[in-house]
Amino acid sequence: MSNRPRILTGDTPTGKLHLGHWVGSVRRRVELQESHDCYFILANMHAFTTRSDKTDEIRADTLEIVRDLLAMGIDPERASIFLQSEVPAIAELTFLFAMLLPYNRVMRNPTLKDEIRVKNLGDSYSFGFPLYAVGQTADILAFRPVSVPVGEDQVPHLELTREVARRFNQMYCGVSDQAEDDDHVAEGGVFPVPRADVGAVGRLVGIDGENKMSKSLNNAVYISDTAKQVQKKINKIYTGRQSATEPGDPTNVLMQYCEIFIPDADRVAEIKDQYARGADIGDGHIKQELGAAINELLEPMRERRAKYEGDDAFVIDVLREGTRRANAVTEETLAMAKEACSLGFFDRTLELS
Ligand code: ATP
Ligand code: MG
Repeated sequence: MSNRPRILTGDTPTGKLHLGHWVGSVRRRVELQESHDCYFILANMHAFTTRSDKTDEIRADTLEIVRDLLAMGIDPERASIFLQSEVPAIAELTFLFAMLLPYNRVMRNPTLKDEIRVKNLGDSYSFGFPLYAVGQTADILAFRPVSVPVGEDQVPHLELTREVARRFNQMYCGVSDQAEDDDHVAEGGVFPVPRADVGAVGRLVGIDGENKMSKSLNNAVYISDTAKQVQKKINKIYTGRQSATEPGDPTNVLMQYCEIFIPDADRVAEIKDQYARGADIGDGHIKQELGAAINELLEPMRERRAKYEGDDAFVIDVLREGTRRANAVTEETLAMAKEACSLGFFDRTLELS
């Protein structure tokens, strides 16, 4: 294990990765792998919360997301991509942490409420569905990370995680309830109180211009889309504008995308200015320019991705190695946590084959 500061973040295999993942989290992960010990979870057990009847799809998406991460520049030699389902310490910590959170506190989590609404779960969601919010605190704390690079929607989950860390340290490790968050470990706590590290674009809106770009909402431009598919999706963006001389809303989804994906800031300023004035600049033209910029970003990713296409054995090797490293850290955390809760009866070792 290295001495570099650790981070943990990851994805639920409910579909392939999209531009929202790139700007919201993965771009930051690629930077951090230079300086931090990085762990990227594939939350395949949490995918069961909404898809327990489609386990073959969860498995296929798990492998595709690994390909997406490699395509975007995650280096499996430096960062560990691992399977939640093969890290038992996470499940065990989930049980301990579930005792530290009032039931109503979990149900008040706005991200959870939002998911219930957006995914039309009504009141028919399983008992396991809200449990995933508790599980996510364990995903994170099992690594005792300093920070968690995530999109904006994850901030409430991080708040819950910070509460669990504080409560555990206070209840079982003698940390004072007056302790500053940054002092918990120095005062004997098992868990640091980790920070949410929200990227410059915390929430990329989907091509519907309404909801967060999301793999479950059919409004995403995928990392693995072909150049043609990308352009087609961009062309579908609806702005309600009728002609090139009608003043446009410089804050609409089309303009937001230009700002995020067209690298030349002067050109973006020029487009926005002409757009706001309705100075003879058509949506069609802008969409072409935007599509080209997005394709320029994605092209090297497509090239890298092509190398792993169809090679499940390689992807599984990446996961095995990442999971082996994840277990080394999380078994250590679990042993510390068990010791603190008077559960430290025996040592154990885990082995993957
Ligand atoms: P689902 O709809 O199944 O929840 P998702 O698209 O939200 O899928 P997650 O696996 O939940 O993807 O999220 C992985 C990470 O990517 C999280 O840190 C999340 O905040 C970030 N992320 C996802 N979508 C966006 C987005 N549109 N903008 C910014 N960040 C995002
Ligand atoms: Mg999500």
